[in-house]
Amino acid sequence: MRCAVLSIGDELVQGRTQDTNAPWLISRLDTIGITVREVRIVGDGITDVMDAITSLWDGHDLIIITGGLGPTDDDRTRDALNALEGGDVERDVVAEAALVARLDRAGVDANEAQRRQADRPASWRSIANANGTAPGMDGMFKSVRVIALPGPPDECRPMMDAHVLGTLVDPALSVQHQHEISCFGLAEAPVAALLGDRLQEGADPATGIRVSRGLVHVHLRSADVELLAREAALIRDRLGACVLPEGCECPADAVAASLQTHDLTVATAESCTGGLIGGALTDRAGSSAWYVGGVQAYANSVKQELLDVPVALIEEGVVSEDVVEAMARGACGASGADAAVSVSGIAGPDGGTADKPVGTVWIGTCVCGSVRSRCVRLPGPRSRVRAWTVHAALTALWWHLEGVEGAMRWDVRS
Ligand code: AMP
Ligand code: MG
Repeated sequence: MRCAVLSIGDELVQGRTQDTNAPWLISRLDTIGITVREVRIVGDGITDVMDAITSLWDGHDLIIITGGLGPTDDDRTRDALNALEGGDVERDVVAEAALVARLDRAGVDANEAQRRQADRPASWRSIANANGTAPGMDGMFKSVRVIALPGPPDECRPMMDAHVLGTLVDPALSVQHQHEISCFGLAEAPVAALLGDRLQEGADPATGIRVSRGLVHVHLRSADVELLAREAALIRDRLGACVLPEGCECPADAVAASLQTHDLTVATAESCTGGLIGGALTDRAGSSAWYVGGVQAYANSVKQELLDVPVALIEEGVVSEDVVEAMARGACGASGADAAVSVSGIAGPDGGTADKPVGTVWIGTCVCGSVRSRCVRLPGPRSRVRAWTVHAALTALWWHLEGVEGAMRWDVRS
């Protein structure tokens, strides 16, 4: 099945709205074994819409369109499809009744522009929309099936699931199983090197790498679920301590799982991240069971007064091993948590020195009285240093909770 997805809307090509429909549709189609070969985005201009559809129907068996089905003059997908089909246009009485009733419930008398949303080629079907007035359209251009859904994600997604996906299921298609392995602390190139020839086109499992916010994700796909599991285990083994546990997409997930396994609570003491670590931990539903709280110890006076960091240590250098260790201990002491993580670093753009350049971050962890610390040097602008500090600190905490001695590529060895 050769499938294309076409997203339509001026807001998409002008960068005001991000196209989230296409990625979502792709992942839904993937679950039934349909791989999308092409995604295209065009504006609402009727010529652009018609050109895109006519160029896509060469070489595809299925085109899924979203957007441009609304009642206003700037939505032209319906007109384009009706014109391209070239036959009689019919008003779908069921779809019209549904939209009239929906508007009536909102106290609105349906006008002609709104009723016209029920128009479709005579041989096509309308797709019911439970969350809006614009019905979808489903029909054939010769041998190409075309499905058009409204743009709003909360309308398009339920319509796809309730009325489209089931009609596309083909037992002849082999469903691909998937597995993702995430790691933090390794660069993309060494991960690729550890994968050997698995990244080559045609390999089974099909293997790919993507990088996001300092994390490297290895994605595996195969129709053979046992082969997939064997390969995933082998790769996990090769990548070592940096690999997050199965089901964990980032170090915060790993910390959450570890705290729950060991029945421990945690606190945070953050200088250069100003609360981002606490934010990452409390993003997880149920974090109140193990996250006690945190101190945003940005100013030295707060490190001293709330975390009991001795002033002498601060005077010797606030971005230091001694200070983060004292902060982690102090966070446990002040909060009663079993464990704590602390950070003090230079996020930039100013404040770097020759021996502590921008990106230098000390991380402290305290787990049941035992204290560890490490220094990392993170590359890039302030926003990246802060974001990666969150992952680095939580990775250090996770390793400490699990009794693991890991190494990160950004470690500064003294
Ligand atoms: P429409 O069906 O063109 O009337 O779409 C209405 C609204 O849905 C737009 O104003 C966008 O906010 C949203 N929308 C349309 N297409 C997309 C898309 N591909 N991804 C995310 N949102 C979209
Ligand atoms: Mg639109």
